[in-house]
Amino acid sequence: FRQEAGVVALAAQQQDSQRLLDEFRQACDTPLAKLEAVVDAMVLEMEAGLAADEGCLLKMLPSFVENLPKGTEKGVYYALDLGGTNFRVLRAVFLGPGEGCTQESEVFAIPQELMLGTSEQLFDFIVSRLQDFVNRETQNKSPPEGHKRELGFTFSFPVKQTSVASGTLIHWSKGFKVSGTEGRDIVEVLREAIDRRNFQMEVAALVNDTVGTLAGGRYINSDVMMAVILGTGTNACYIERAEAVPKWQAPPPSSGVHVINTEWGNFSSPTLPTTFADDELDRESVNPGEHIFEKMMSGMYLGDLVRRVLLKLAQDASLFGDTVPEKLTKKGSLVTPDTSKMHGDETPDLETVGDTLKKKLDLDTSVEQRKVVYSVIDIIARRGARLAAAAIVAVLRKIGRDGKSGNGRSKTVIAMDGGLYERYPQFRNYLKEAFLELLGEAAVKNVDIELSKDGSGIGAALLAACHSKYGAQRWD
Ligand code: BGC
Ligand code: MG
Repeated sequence: FRQEAGVVALAAQQQDSQRLLDEFRQACDTPLAKLEAVVDAMVLEMEAGLAADEGCLLKMLPSFVENLPKGTEKGVYYALDLGGTNFRVLRAVFLGPGEGCTQESEVFAIPQELMLGTSEQLFDFIVSRLQDFVNRETQNKSPPEGHKRELGFTFSFPVKQTSVASGTLIHWSKGFKVSGTEGRDIVEVLREAIDRRNFQMEVAALVNDTVGTLAGGRYINSDVMMAVILGTGTNACYIERAEAVPKWQAPPPSSGVHVINTEWGNFSSPTLPTTFADDELDRESVNPGEHIFEKMMSGMYLGDLVRRVLLKLAQDASLFGDTVPEKLTKKGSLVTPDTSKMHGDETPDLETVGDTLKKKLDLDTSVEQRKVVYSVIDIIARRGARLAAAAIVAVLRKIGRDGKSGNGRSKTVIAMDGGLYERYPQFRNYLKEAFLELLGEAAVKNVDIELSKDGSGIGAALLAACHSKYGAQRWD
């Protein structure tokens, strides 16, 4: 009798889990009509952000880039790329028209405590690594008399640029909460750290990673109109006509176009399919109320969304039995690399899912339970990827390159970077699927998404070259 009761209880648990899972799937649903509504809402927000300087969801920040790379650049330039979990220092030698470039770089992990420490601590750390790198480099030649080395600084946070080489940090994102930096000119903060070490380095350009990626893409392909990051965080920049930026008061850039950093991570809208998990994650984040869109899809958050849904299934439907697994209650116990790995599981018994749950959460699971976990991962990744596709389409629509405005003249290339696109095939495929649904077969033929791995560092070095203080007298 006891055994029978156990079977009945198990069946009831499975039913409860299934019901909750179905509800969750419903809440995350993104049929085409819903995606179209997101596109429309985002286009409106883009227009608002281009018109007004303050108070908009999409900040639509002009980058002050005067010249985009042409492939003719020449000289030695450095880059510093600070964005997500890592930072990179890089030295590029541009060899001139048709000759390409060579580069050396080094990647460092940013210690967690520095992400939550003071501005001085973070920047001292960064500059010391940069200085070591410059001192160690193999072909360590000195710049000519009176010249300093020049650097492009990729800083992947919302910055209100005041020139191509200055700008104030609006707020941190992606888990950074460093004191004493918000509201300050980030180049000045970097320069102070450079000076503290008696180091000689000129900061010639300050760029968002999307802008760096765009520049890196343009160096090889002049059809690149837009750059997208789908990594720890998410964002896009694109090339906009000068007339389409009413909030720009100064004379337009000589090129007649602006590179606009959308900061779309901060988008939010009633059209978005948010759930209890999104609300909880936001509330418990270091930046509540900010970057709602980013929190629904980027690498920093996908794994934690999955964890929250599993926790609810454990609490309300006893998914993992009578007790709620202790580790599941802990933030950080399940991260996007774990869930993307599980998502790739093609074994009939979901062995990778089982192994990962054991390793990360100390859980022994049945095949039935693993199937539920797999579904949760799939629902969340699919929703994120489809929303990312909608955001890309919104930008294309804004510039009349979505194939719907009778503007079929040229190819549009999107330079893409970030781990979600590069290393998460299920995410990438869902994105492409939704992209096709939204644009249609004919239009999609005119739009290429090209992976531009780590393009933001080389792009920043290029933009330093394009805005060099020493103009034509560059050294190499
Ligand atoms: C930042 C953007 C950045 C994006 C991708 C977001 O959190 O606000 O500036 O481009 O992450 O790195
Ligand atoms: Mg990056």
